[in-house]
Amino acid sequence: MTPKIARFLARQQPATPCLVLDVDRVEENFRALRRTLPLARIYYAVKANPARQILERLVGLSSSFDAASFEEVEACLDTGARPEAISFGNTIKKVTAIQGAFRRGVTLFAFDSIEELEKLAKHAPGARVYCRILVENEGADWPLSRKFGTTVDNAKTLMIRAGEMGLDPYGLSFHVGSQQTTTRAYEIAIGKVAMLFTDLTDAGINLRMMNLGGGFPVRYRDDVPEIDRFGDAIMTAMTEHFGNNMPEMVIEPGRFVVGGAGLISAEVVLVCRRDPSDPVRWVYLDIGRFGGLAETEGEAIKYAIVTPHDGTATGPVAIAGPTCDGADIMYERSNYRLPLALTSGDRVELLSAGAYVTTYASQRFNGFAPLAEYYL
Ligand SMILES: *Cc1c(COP(=O)(O)O)cnc(C)c1O
Repeated sequence: MTPKIARFLARQQPATPCLVLDVDRVEENFRALRRTLPLARIYYAVKANPARQILERLVGLSSSFDAASFEEVEACLDTGARPEAISFGNTIKKVTAIQGAFRRGVTLFAFDSIEELEKLAKHAPGARVYCRILVENEGADWPLSRKFGTTVDNAKTLMIRAGEMGLDPYGLSFHVGSQQTTTRAYEIAIGKVAMLFTDLTDAGINLRMMNLGGGFPVRYRDDVPEIDRFGDAIMTAMTEHFGNNMPEMVIEPGRFVVGGAGLISAEVVLVCRRDPSDPVRWVYLDIGRFGGLAETEGEAIKYAIVTPHDGTATGPVAIAGPTCDGADIMYERSNYRLPLALTSGDRVELLSAGAYVTTYASQRFNGFAPLAEYYL
């Protein structure tokens, strides 16, 4: 918790649940990434938190932006981002979204299939395109599965086709999975994609860009490697594969930029046991899976929880949200323990909750309002 957030909570006691985020911390995280990977251009993944205050601060830092929809493209432009600083990184785009982005000056698009390439050739003629390669997501707490990316062989065919279709075959990309906790995942992916890069260059394609995606982790309940470890591993692997012929490097961090900058202030609604003899207490908060904590699905992201009774005796708990849905359980199997003194009405904080929360909150399930947001 930053001093600014602590002061705000103490003075304002805002109604819960709410996200409180320190925008200065966003800037610090952005600068840390820039320091550790000075050769890489940073495209902030807008979906992690599209708040205007965050986009404005990043525009001021000359960040570029990875947008996944026309609406995100517009949000970037409206806060002052130049169209040349925007990449339309979703490989799944409606024709109207491609047309809208192209009309507003965006000329960099991702794809991973022939049909998407055909859409781009038709509705964004001459645009720079990059092909997303399917890589292992092992080591990621929030993997992106097999939903995106294509094989090296197919990518080669598609990149050659892109040039024939009048597009500019600009580069290659991958994503090692979100909350990636191992540097090894980047090394392996770079090796795989660099080989294709060289192959295509030898085939006469004028490739210029390697997009290493996002995935950089935030400290939740468990420790993760420092960001410099990722920077070092990436630079070592890139140098090993490209030597003096280093292509333009792009990274698309989302979680790392905003995750640690904010916390969720919540209230304990109820503490009970299914039976008085049961050692496990059920703790119900006023925020849950439908209030923004979507990434607790499968107990994937494990937020650290601060209570007013920390330092006193604890016992095992299951932690759930306030709605009537049986899926609205955050943690049952992750060995969470909370103070025995915890009781309804207590205020608790979920730390490092600045990413992938506000936009995941449901509209009015059970009548609960979407998550309130404060940017300091
Ligand atoms: C979600 C996403 C990112 C951001 O990932 P993080 O793990 O939050 O850094 C970057 N690039 C693409 C294409 C994405 O879909």
